[in-house]
Amino acid sequence: MKKIFACALALVGALYFEGAALAQTRAEALSDHVHYLASDELRGRRAGSEEAQMAREYIIGEFDKAGLVPFFKDGFREHFQVDGKGFCNAVGMIEGSDPELKNEYVVLGAHFDHLGERGGKIYPGADDNASGSAALIEIAKILSEKRDMLKRSVIFAGFDAEEIGLYGSNFLAKALADSVGVSSIKLMMSLDMVGYYRQSGKLILQGSSTIKDGKILIEEEANRMDINVKTKPFENSIFTATDTDGFARKGIATLAVTTGLKSPYHKPEDVADSVDYAGLDKVTGYISEFTVVACDPYLQPSGKVAPKHIDKRDPFMLGVDLGIGSANMMFKDGGFQTYGGFAFSAGVSAKFRLHDAFGFKTGAYFERATTSFPIAENLYYQSARYGQSQFTVPLEAMAFLGDNVANVYAGLGAYYSHALNGGIIGNSEMAQKAVLPGDIRKNQFGIVAEIGFSLGAFTIGLECRNQLGNLFKGTDVPRAQMRYSLFKLGYNF
Ligand SMILES: [Zn+2]
Repeated sequence: MKKIFACALALVGALYFEGAALAQTRAEALSDHVHYLASDELRGRRAGSEEAQMAREYIIGEFDKAGLVPFFKDGFREHFQVDGKGFCNAVGMIEGSDPELKNEYVVLGAHFDHLGERGGKIYPGADDNASGSAALIEIAKILSEKRDMLKRSVIFAGFDAEEIGLYGSNFLAKALADSVGVSSIKLMMSLDMVGYYRQSGKLILQGSSTIKDGKILIEEEANRMDINVKTKPFENSIFTATDTDGFARKGIATLAVTTGLKSPYHKPEDVADSVDYAGLDKVTGYISEFTVVACDPYLQPSGKVAPKHIDKRDPFMLGVDLGIGSANMMFKDGGFQTYGGFAFSAGVSAKFRLHDAFGFKTGAYFERATTSFPIAENLYYQSARYGQSQFTVPLEAMAFLGDNVANVYAGLGAYYSHALNGGIIGNSEMAQKAVLPGDIRKNQFGIVAEIGFSLGAFTIGLECRNQLGNLFKGTDVPRAQMRYSLFKLGYNF
């Protein structure tokens, strides 16, 4: 009796759990994915680690279950190398239902790698970005069942090596550009940190202006799905970058989808139990529906790209720049230096890149520089003012160092200035007393060094110049040289 009862109980229990497994809600499925990906077993999924491969294989398994087909001929794995090390994206597809439009694509991506272990602590990366990976898996399942509604083809990508430099997404962007062509990719969405909807109160979609009527389309669907969204025309932070980057730089419309920086970002506390699964479920449902919208030919790229995604690595760059700062005069014999006066510079620049990292720069500038000028009898306590206007042409060797978001540059070279005028200015008592040791040289030259960084089309930098030779004509005159320190703002067309 007892035994029979126990058996019956076990049977009922087994049936119950079977039933529960069948009736698992999407939020529970999302939670399972995040709990596995952010588990201690996966040790923070550091790019290149065995655990990152386990994460990728998990995603591929789920893609397969969802009924995705590989996009690449040789399967779901897109292998690539960075500095001789191997990495691998997971790439699957649902082919579009329209015979023509299936040759157009919408790409959904989420990176699965995270930081791994640091100082003996695991960085689980539940929000960053087990949440996006989990959403990607469930979106694949939802859309697979609605595949008849997808006119365009949808590519699902689990990206590797995001945290170490957005490599996975860059490789896929390039591979797609080379195979299907940039113009056939109508939208790319990156799901990165989407697990904190409740805490954030909104889902943020950055890049609505890269889509025609983007804001309207995004908000209409959000109203229908009862989710609070906030659109931003473009991604604009220079401190954050996500997997949209490689696509946006090719001119592809992109949306960076996130619930923001509400989680313990890049901290060991970014754990699976803190993720808001009801919210993640809402985000998953919404992005699925918006992908259906994106697969309709009505959705078209606007052709606009965020300034930070405009790749200024053209071989030739023409720009304008403006410099303000100070000038002074250095008397080489005795090391006497005048008090700096106001200087400005305005003109056009031309940069030539011979290589990703090297090139040269020239330009043409109109400049005005002023400085104090000593009164001979009282060198340190009395001074007049000296001013000079000139046309200047620099020629510099340039080095460009970049991380794709902000690029640092440095230049070193020579400049030539043709002085239009130069002499004591004003009519003060001091000006009457001041005596230049000779006429100034019309042809002046010297060395120039500059350093700065570019952000999209804009540059900010510091330039220092030191004249060589003598400012004054004649043989028996004190050797004086002009020095310039300019803060420069530039814009490249
Ligand atoms: Zn991330």
